[in-house]
Amino acid sequence: MKAITISSGKERANVALADVPKPVLTSAEDVVIRVLCVGLDGTDREIIVDNFARFPEGKSDMIIGHELLGIVAEAGAESGLSRGDAVTALVRRPCGDESCVNCRSGQQDFCRTGLYLERGIQGADGFLCEYVAENAKYVVKVPAECLPYGVLVEPQSIVEKVWNEAQIIQQRMLWQPRTALVTGSGPLGLLAALTCRTLGMDVYVWSKSPEGSLNADMIRSIGGHYRQAGESAPGEFASGLTEYAQQLGTGFDMIWECSGYAPLGFEVIPLLAHNGIVALLGVTPGQGRLNVPSDMIYREMVAKNKCIIGSVNASRQDFATAIQRLCTIEQQYPGMLGKLQTNRLTPRQVPEIDFSRISIKAVVDFVSPAEWASLL
Ligand SMILES: [Zn+2]
Repeated sequence: MKAITISSGKERANVALADVPKPVLTSAEDVVIRVLCVGLDGTDREIIVDNFARFPEGKSDMIIGHELLGIVAEAGAESGLSRGDAVTALVRRPCGDESCVNCRSGQQDFCRTGLYLERGIQGADGFLCEYVAENAKYVVKVPAECLPYGVLVEPQSIVEKVWNEAQIIQQRMLWQPRTALVTGSGPLGLLAALTCRTLGMDVYVWSKSPEGSLNADMIRSIGGHYRQAGESAPGEFASGLTEYAQQLGTGFDMIWECSGYAPLGFEVIPLLAHNGIVALLGVTPGQGRLNVPSDMIYREMVAKNKCIIGSVNASRQDFATAIQRLCTIEQQYPGMLGKLQTNRLTPRQVPEIDFSRISIKAVVDFVSPAEWASLL
């Protein structure tokens, strides 16, 4: 079968459309999934452009891709799934350390050892290929009517994990969030903004995308507020975000840092309302150092009960919630989730991919969307 593989290159990773063996069922709990499409995100960009990959043990190449939408082609007798079911899959697999209570209880997104595997990212083949074999406990059924946006379940699960964590943490009081700030307007930022809108919040998005860009227009079309970020001077809070927040005259109950630009993670802390929470979701490597006004930030955190959390990956429950949320978003903002998938690629186009030309989100089709329904 065809697969997109990577191996270490001189600068950028070597990306190839290769022939690899088709996987087979190895247990009654497994399924073989025919891959319909796979979304690409910042992690894939990092793996390809920055030559950042952790290959499976003993191998010098790997199939990449971790945002899967597929159809069950063969189902083991104890898989609980049937041929023709639309599915996606969790990305992370538990570590083998018996003392890792989180991995042992199915919460590998909170692995304590860091020795987990992630399909297409860390130590395990990913999903950019024609067929994938997987144990059903890592496979999540997607309702057939959600097929047009099912490839967004994995990125939405990242948003749902954060929202779940925020709700648990904020049980420390009566919390009724009304305003949210989202920094970054890539797929994750847009999904966070859409989610906050469905939760009834006023949403403000701060991002480098210019006025008139699709990102900015999408935010406004869902009733959100958009402001283009200025250029930051190296080492300083100078993007204009603090001034923007001061103009608004309101603190934010929740802030989603989706840009991965580390200085913003600190700059936003004073912009929280009393009792607010900042969630850090993205990481962009190599951003140098920053002069942080530590005394002011420390005082803000203590005197106003502020909270900051980091969050990565997602659980099976987060995937299930993500499917529900995407259905709600589609009902409330019809067509928006389709619009977000801006660049559809064939597998043949992936080796030469230029990420700077991806408008919002790239999706690689292994089966043409026109044929998906015939496989159900
Ligand atoms: Zn673990």
